[in-house]
Amino acid sequence: MINDTCLVDYHLSYIMYHFLVSAMCKKNYKFHIITFGCQMNKNDSERMESILLNMGLELTDKPEEADVILLNSCSVRETAEARVFGYAKNLAELKKDKPHLIIGVTGCMPGRDKDGKMRKKMPNVDLYFPTEEMINLPKWLGELNPDLCAMDNLETDYLNLHPNYKSNFQAFVTIQTGCNHFCTYCVVPFARGTEGNRSLKSILEEVKNLDQRKYKEITLLGQIVNHYIAPHPSGGQTDSENFSKNNPYKKNDFAKLLWEINQFENIKRVHFTAPHLIYMDEEMIDALTLPNQVNYIHLPVQSGSNEMLRKMNRRHDRDFYIDVIKKIRDKKPDIAIGTDIIVGFCGETEQDFSDTVDLYKQCDFDISYHAQYSVRSGTVASKSFKDDVEKSEKKRRWHILQDLMEKITFEKNQKFIGQTISVLVDNFVKGRCLGNSKEMKLVSFSGDESLVGQIVNVKIDKADTWILWGGVV
Ligand code: SF4
Repeated sequence: MINDTCLVDYHLSYIMYHFLVSAMCKKNYKFHIITFGCQMNKNDSERMESILLNMGLELTDKPEEADVILLNSCSVRETAEARVFGYAKNLAELKKDKPHLIIGVTGCMPGRDKDGKMRKKMPNVDLYFPTEEMINLPKWLGELNPDLCAMDNLETDYLNLHPNYKSNFQAFVTIQTGCNHFCTYCVVPFARGTEGNRSLKSILEEVKNLDQRKYKEITLLGQIVNHYIAPHPSGGQTDSENFSKNNPYKKNDFAKLLWEINQFENIKRVHFTAPHLIYMDEEMIDALTLPNQVNYIHLPVQSGSNEMLRKMNRRHDRDFYIDVIKKIRDKKPDIAIGTDIIVGFCGETEQDFSDTVDLYKQCDFDISYHAQYSVRSGTVASKSFKDDVEKSEKKRRWHILQDLMEKITFEKNQKFIGQTISVLVDNFVKGRCLGNSKEMKLVSFSGDESLVGQIVNVKIDKADTWILWGGVV
């Protein structure tokens, strides 16, 4: 566990950073960030916000008011990239009235654009950089407009930058970026590079700070979050100094990290995404039972067909997946489980698809996110396999899974009727509080705005597919 001296250092370095940068930059400039894609991108945008706020710029939600606009891009699908091209083009129009406007594109697109083809489609973009290079923003912005800032960068690892959290009770904490797995359909290893793990000390400092600020829920983020290996402070693997001596886990660094985070007093909910099946070892499964863990795990399977799993390079077969789910439920019988599935991957036959449907039924998922396969340039699948399942067939399979999910989810939700469950309220709309249960089920109940940010007990009296209804106990 981290001690208080470290936390004082954390505060001091933060204050010094803020003071130094603000003192060197002129005021009254504004910035706007548009974020596409996943939670990790959102957390990266919180870091960029922090850099720009510390430079003395103000945040605006109106792009036309901004002097700096950053697009944090996503490459997961072609449509996501097309949206970024569209935004970059439209925003460039603003330069006609405001020639000093700086437009930047970061995130997954610059990361994977090795031949610069995407960059060429956005001629009016001034800055184009992979996520980890955000630490250069003060320098680059100062070069483009000396009135904005003229200084060197103060951090070397962008993961150590302090995010400007969007909420004062829920926070994302990125512990890892990049991936070594090279699933054949996936752009992540190309966009974000190979796996890099953040130092344990830095993670625990951030969590300690969140705990002191009385945050209630944190979500640990990583591409294969349960493959987290705490880097040794002086290089290499693994960190044996910063884990507590009485940490009960000995092998799996991620399980060890979960245990450490479960010791904080105010953090009542610990969530993580996304784990990979092959690292769900005994310690990892045991860690799901730690007292502050949410009662939910999202464990992507992608397909129930052994042939598809092999072609996707998922490194396990269907029986192994089903077996791990069984082990998880043996350990924690009421846990809610979610997954991701791709339909219509290269060569997926009717039999392959029915294997997926069969696996779905056996695993009895609470929720599942379905994607119709689309080719992503640069991936192994784009070079090695033919995208030979018709669009209409992909759509048909998608609907079959979607209908199955809605049926199973509705049935499973009925068990909550009459139960009292804890809900972290995160929104208040028209007299009703909204929030998530520990199973990550959306719950609505009548209440007042003061409950936002609180964990309350709610007795459920009605259950629909995507929402549970109830009243405060
Ligand atoms: S595990 Fe596979 S799907 Fe997940 S980020 Fe890595 S390559 Fe992509």
